Amino acid sequence: MNKSRLTRQTFNEIMVPNYAPQAMIPVRGEGSRIWDQSGNEYIDFAGGIAVNALGHCHPELLKILKDQSEKLWHLSNVYTNEPALAFAQKMVSLTFADKIYFCNSGAEANEAAFKLARKYAYDKFSSEKNEIIAFQDAFHGRSLFTVTVGGQAKYQTGFAPLPSGVRHVPFNDLKALKATISNKTCAVVLEIIQGEGGVITADPTFLQGAQQLCQQYDALLIVDEIQTGVGRTGQLYAYMDNGIIPDIMTSAKALGCGFPVAAMLTTHHIANSLSFGTHGSTYGGNPLACAVALEAFSIISESQLLTNVSRKYNLFRECLAHINKKYNLFSDIRGKGLLIGAELNQPWHGMANKFIAAAETEGLMLLMAGPNVLRMTPSLIIPDDDIQVGMKKLERAVANIIHRR
Ligand SMILES: *Cc1c(COP(=O)(O)O)cnc(C)c1O
Repeated sequence: MNKSRLTRQTFNEIMVPNYAPQAMIPVRGEGSRIWDQSGNEYIDFAGGIAVNALGHCHPELLKILKDQSEKLWHLSNVYTNEPALAFAQKMVSLTFADKIYFCNSGAEANEAAFKLARKYAYDKFSSEKNEIIAFQDAFHGRSLFTVTVGGQAKYQTGFAPLPSGVRHVPFNDLKALKATISNKTCAVVLEIIQGEGGVITADPTFLQGAQQLCQQYDALLIVDEIQTGVGRTGQLYAYMDNGIIPDIMTSAKALGCGFPVAAMLTTHHIANSLSFGTHGSTYGGNPLACAVALEAFSIISESQLLTNVSRKYNLFRECLAHINKKYNLFSDIRGKGLLIGAELNQPWHGMANKFIAAAETEGLMLLMAGPNVLRMTPSLIIPDDDIQVGMKKLERAVANIIHRR
């Protein structure tokens, strides 16, 4: 590999153009700092899109990864393995779930959840009970079934025919859900905070109302915690302080802190419908992924870490409010824990990507959630100093854009 010749231009030449990566190419990370090919340093407020919840190259994860890599990487599900069983035990002990299914990505976890909901209704009721109700602006992944359930037309255009039996209603609108749910509904699927949809938080009364409607119509409540889970909101899972209990929950992103792994969690009773031979994955639950994920999950579920997430949220808010006071840039600063959205004021609508590029120039990695919202999903253990330094960079980026105008 001749690394000196690998540039951003190489991407354009030989990669499918479904992504438009930033100009710099990161080569190394430690904690919440990243270095690019030229040795420039960046503060990481993006966290690999809510994935690197323990930062980059966390020493305890590195140790486990090295240890397990010298023992066993992969077996297929013809065999079970100790790391998978230990990790499943840990998840069962800390959540509502009795049963776990492992896979490799969020889309796969949701695919399993939607298939299970259909199969359960088929087993217990009838093949007529197959409708899935989801919400506008929801995001559930990029496979054909999961883009269909997601509520964003831009991800569906050109891929028809889509799977049928999926309906969408406005988010946080209990009346609309009530008008749409029926005995034909097999599941209602929702995010507790719509991440990709713009960092929009569900009202607890909406969530509790949705759960009641599901019970009334024998529909399953599927909670997609792929972005909100694993400590992101300051709870191990966001459902835990919203007064609801999912029938099925999906978890991915931060689950392996950067090692690909995902899980679908459910109860004994529902799990029985994914009987032998009905579903599967070659890599799902491999020992290498599960060893890393068990260690990550054990560190993150510790109460002191979770308490700190809420404290760091306040620091983010204060810094963003300070920038806003000076530049009147944001109409809203929202989110929970370290899933933070700052919505741009009207004159700046459609320009989130400009702010992200300007931040990169100053040495700060940021995300967007749609064209009007700057999103931050940093490591859950990002040092307060790095938050302060990153915010100074953001302030300089904002000043540059505003003065240029
Ligand atoms: C990221 C995300 C997904 C998809 O996860 P992948 O690992 O990219 O397949 C699904 N649902 C939500 C809420 C997400 O944030």
